[in-house]
Parts: sequence; C-alpha cells; structure tokens
Amino acid sequence: MKVSYSYLAEQFADPEPILAKLRESLLRHYQYTFGPELEEFEANMARYAGARFCLGTSSGTMALSMLLKAAGVGEGDEVITVSQTFVATIGSIVAVGARPYFIDVLEDFTMDPALIEAAVTDRTKAVMPVWYSGAPPRLEEIAAIAERLGLAVIEDSCCAIGGRIGGRHAGNFGLGGAFSVHPLKNLNVWGDGGFVVTNDEKTFEMIGLLRNHGLGDGRDRVDIYGYNARLDTLQAIVGNHLFPQVDAITERRIAQAARYDEAFGNPEFEGLITVPPRRADARHVYHMYMVLAEKRDDLLKFLQGRGIEAKIHYPVPMHLQPATLEQDIPFGRTDLSRTEAQCRSLITFPVHQHLSPDQIEFVISSVREFYLG
Ligand SMILES: *Cc1c(COP(=O)(O)O)cnc(C)c1O
Repeated sequence: MKVSYSYLAEQFADPEPILAKLRESLLRHYQYTFGPELEEFEANMARYAGARFCLGTSSGTMALSMLLKAAGVGEGDEVITVSQTFVATIGSIVAVGARPYFIDVLEDFTMDPALIEAAVTDRTKAVMPVWYSGAPPRLEEIAAIAERLGLAVIEDSCCAIGGRIGGRHAGNFGLGGAFSVHPLKNLNVWGDGGFVVTNDEKTFEMIGLLRNHGLGDGRDRVDIYGYNARLDTLQAIVGNHLFPQVDAITERRIAQAARYDEAFGNPEFEGLITVPPRRADARHVYHMYMVLAEKRDDLLKFLQGRGIEAKIHYPVPMHLQPATLEQDIPFGRTDLSRTEAQCRSLITFPVHQHLSPDQIEFVISSVREFYLG
C-alpha cells in the first residue's frame, strides 16, 4: 500500500470543469489581471475569514512582505518571530530590509508569548507569529502584549485557511494575516498565489497600491514604489471553483489527525511518539500533521521503505541556516533550545482529502511495528 504525501494528481484527475470555466470566462473577456473573478475570489475569502477586506496577491510570501511594508517596517527594523517555520516567514522580513529576531516556541510548535517582551529593542516594529502546520498560536495573548508594547501583529497564516480560535478566523487578531493558495495548501490553485485579509482600511489601501506598482488612480500616477504582486485572474478562477470544497477538505484532514492523535496518545507509544498539546477552543487545520518521534531518522527510513511518504519539516531551523548565519541577525541573544530539540525529532505523517481510513491505519500499524515489532 502506498501512502502519498501529495494529492494533486487525484485532485485534478478531471480538470474539465475548471477548463470549462476558463473557456467561458478568461478566454472570453481576456482580463488576465484584475478580472471579475479576482473580485469574486476576494469577496469569497473576506466573507469566509469574517474580515472587512481581502486582496489577492501573487504568493503568501508577498502577502507577508506587503503587510510588513504597510505596517511601516523597513530598513534596519526588527520583527520578533520564530525560527520554527518555513523559510518564507523569514524571507518576507529580510525582503523589506528588516531583521528577524527569533524567539523560542511552546510544545505545540508555536510562538511562546512570554518571550516577546524581553526580545524588544529600540528597532522592534512588529511581531509575526506563525500558524505553523495550521496550528493556532496564542494569538489573544500575543495581540494583548503587542498592543501594550506598541507593536503591530502580522499573522503568518499562510497554511491556516479555515483556522480559528474561539470562532475568530486566522488573520483577524492584529493588523492582518497572509495566506497562501500554493498547490499544497488546503485551498490551492494551479501555481503560486495568496491573499491578505485585514480589517484596517489604511492597510487595505496601502496593499492595494503595493501589489500594483504603486499606481494610484488610473495608470499614470505613481503614488509609491511597489511591486507586481497581484493574484492572476486564472488562479482566482481555480480558487473560486475549489472554494466550496475547502471545509470538506479541511474536515477530512482534521478527522485523520484526530485518528492519529488517538492512536499515538495510547500508552504503548509513551516515550516514543509525543503528540503536541491541542487547544480545545481552536480549529487546527492540519496543513501538516507533525509529532515528535524517538529515533526519528530511522523511523522515517522505515516508513519510506514501506511506501509511506513521511517527511521532515524541517531538519534545520531558520536560525541555523547558512543564509542566517552569514548575516547580522540577532538570534544569538535568545535561547532557542526547544526549537532545536524539536527539529531533531519532528516528523510529518501524510494527511489529505484523498487518503482512505485504511491508509491512515497502515501508517499507524507501521509506526507500531517499527517501535514494538
Ligand atoms: C506556504 C507558507 C508560506 C509561503 O507561501 P507561498 O505562497 O509559498 O509564498 C509562508 N509561511 C508558511 C508558514 C507557509 O506554510
């Protein structure tokens, strides 16, 4: 039995409905940028996220960078964030000329709010918590601390479409949230894409300018220098087509994760597999299912040998990457030992809408066999 990590072949096995939409719309009106379907996509996502505004962007990474710019973060400023993340979190900060200031994470792989205050310097402008793997960070606490300290909160909610805390959707806890619709996210398109949600009108207007070369009214007035970072109409059409499925896809992943949690929480796995604490008041959307494993590298090889595409996200944390070590990035001042320890034993098991219950049971029985024979 093969248990694949990706699902794109199955998901788009019948592309006809999407191709028909492209023929009926894009290839009739020729609005390859800023078409009516982009507006529809933005209206869909604003409503879904319960936010006042949404803007489609060329990627989740650009969504993050533009939120930082809109928050006034630039050359020489510092952004408090985590090292336990995908490179794009840090890349978006460096891209606007700022520096990441890494703090350690909690047992659930998300930012430890208790470490924020000590990380503030006179250059600190913002805090960027990450919904890592779709897990909800302690955003109510983070937002309260940031407000007291006068810092903007920008959520890296790139893998958290549908993520909620106490009924409030990701992206609504600070200045705004960045989301990705990259092919492997829970809502995905046929290439790169992303969006910003915000409730702040100034931020909405600023990012509207930034994503379109800073062009104000019409095409002839450049208000500020920006980027070319719009979401293509083509991708908005794919996104709109998949949008009605997003909750069903997410619920499939949540159910699979719940089954893994139940199995690996069993005493037979004690000291072998550690399931991170789960918040009962929040919806973790399981873009990835990650636990800590003893003898992680051997387990990974064993599972891969059985056709189970387990993975490691990621073996080397961001503060130990060559690109970080080459720069004057202020990571040495804080203790990142939990991040480092997690990276030595993190493992990701497949979860997605095209896996059957039998495949999930096969992963569980394979892990059991590896440890217990
Ligand atoms: C996917 C992801 C991003 C980047 O999104 P792109 O659309 O690929 O640019 C940023 N941060 C996290 C945590 C992600 O998972």
